[in-house]
Amino acid sequence: MPWPDTRYLEQLREAALARIESAPDEQALEAVRVELLGRKGQVTTLLRQLGQIPDPEARRQAGQHLNQLREELEQRLGSRQQALRRRAVRERLASERIDVTLPGRAVPIGRLHPVTRTLEEMLRIFVGMGFEVVEGPEVELDYYNFQALGIPKDHPARDMQDTFYVTDEVVLRTHTSPMQVRTMLARRPPVRVVVPGKVYRKDADVTHSPVFHQVEGLLVDEGIRMSDLKGMLSAFARSLYGPDRPVRFVPSYFPFTEPSAEMYVQCGICRGAGCRACKGSGWLEILGCGMVHPQVLRNVGYDPQRYTGFAWGMGVERITMLRYGIDDIRLLFENDLRFLRQF
Ligand SMILES: [Zn+2]
Repeated sequence: MPWPDTRYLEQLREAALARIESAPDEQALEAVRVELLGRKGQVTTLLRQLGQIPDPEARRQAGQHLNQLREELEQRLGSRQQALRRRAVRERLASERIDVTLPGRAVPIGRLHPVTRTLEEMLRIFVGMGFEVVEGPEVELDYYNFQALGIPKDHPARDMQDTFYVTDEVVLRTHTSPMQVRTMLARRPPVRVVVPGKVYRKDADVTHSPVFHQVEGLLVDEGIRMSDLKGMLSAFARSLYGPDRPVRFVPSYFPFTEPSAEMYVQCGICRGAGCRACKGSGWLEILGCGMVHPQVLRNVGYDPQRYTGFAWGMGVERITMLRYGIDDIRLLFENDLRFLRQF
């Protein structure tokens, strides 16, 4: 191949410079460098062919010319690479820029479930009266849930509570009352505890849920009388519902208390006149209570001649529904945020 003339080398130079300047990024620029100055690049190949020029003077001039061209191309490649790098940094900074004046994203603020709020309010009142909060197992022995509370296996009271049986001897507790037995077995009087927790019954409609919360209370000491029960639970109702809501006690039956009663608070909607919420009676039942049955005391080794006490239990969902005017218990378990946000 004849040695290329000056015109050809000038065209090569101009084309090379144009490609360097128009390379859009570093990767494209590297491809241009390889094509020009790589091992098999255009300029490299020419340099390798210098030896084919027979005249020493012409060979020297051509070599000088080519080396100048190579140096110029290397220089332009270098400056183009720096320019591309600066541009990339600028673009990245622009895309990552944080505008500190933009308004922040609002974090949704959670709130307590209405049942939790009611439960905490109830416990706050009892703790203020000197009660200690204790908790017990939800999977319970039949013995603690029923038998020690005076409900043997053939007792008709078992029909009052539709029970989930795990085995013949193990149940999901149907009330928090087994903790009365467990607590009394573990300590000596005076006993003064409240027991919050989940309980389970095979029951589901607008006022019954298969799982719900109860708060149980127990006070045992020397000389405790029915009037103590009435005074203390009346004080509780005044704290929860306000001082102007009358309460009344109506005789009832529970196997583990004697005498037993249900406590009613005047209907807050009709103020006693009678309405749909109170089914026309003017009163709402809020808890069951009574003096601890002497046999229950004997079952845990307490002497009923010396010690007496009272116990009560109430459904937290029921009291929550009365407080907020909720007419379907299932709303409290569906956890629909549109419902819960109203509290
Ligand atoms: Zn009413």
